Amino acid sequence: MLDPREFIIFDAIDKDGPQSYSRTYSISPAELGRYEIVNIGPVALTAQARKGDLPAEYVVDGSSKFTADLACSRCVEPYPFASSSTFHLRFRPRPELPQQEEAEVEITPDALDVEFYTERAIPLRDLALEQIQFSIPMKPLCEENCLGLCPECGANRNRETCACESSIVDERWGALREIRQAIKKRES
Ligand SMILES: [Zn+2]
Ligand SMILES: [Zn+2]
Repeated sequence: MLDPREFIIFDAIDKDGPQSYSRTYSISPAELGRYEIVNIGPVALTAQARKGDLPAEYVVDGSSKFTADLACSRCVEPYPFASSSTFHLRFRPRPELPQQEEAEVEITPDALDVEFYTERAIPLRDLALEQIQFSIPMKPLCEENCLGLCPECGANRNRETCACESSIVDERWGALREIRQAIKKRES
């Protein structure tokens, strides 16, 4: 018997009508498989589930909220991150298609929030995990204009100006000068 607080059970919706859920989950960074996540606090998830317009379709509206420490993708320094978002999902029975045809099924923009189910129960914890993955940026940045690390000595350029900086800039200008000269030569 599934715990009706931990799962969206479609049979319960059929029998008793729309269902509401409110859960908090502790999730470890390791479980998320994202090295950018240094720490993550409890995730608060709410969801309302009801029947959809199509046969065997169920609609879930919900929200997720959490805080985390993310490692900046440029300077590697951890910074606080807070997320509060809503989601709208439609669950439809997985279409039974032969393997080779499956690849040809086109995903229309309308199908973006559609998830296919085989089991008639959705673990709320899985929804929480999914929402975290969607909410955390692919390339987290501590600040939009983070200067990152010096590729030469590894110094955090947000905090210090290292000695190699000027020579790297010189090299870049040097390269640019060569390109300009090459273009000029070609033009003349
Ligand atoms: Zn940074
Ligand atoms: Zn340096």
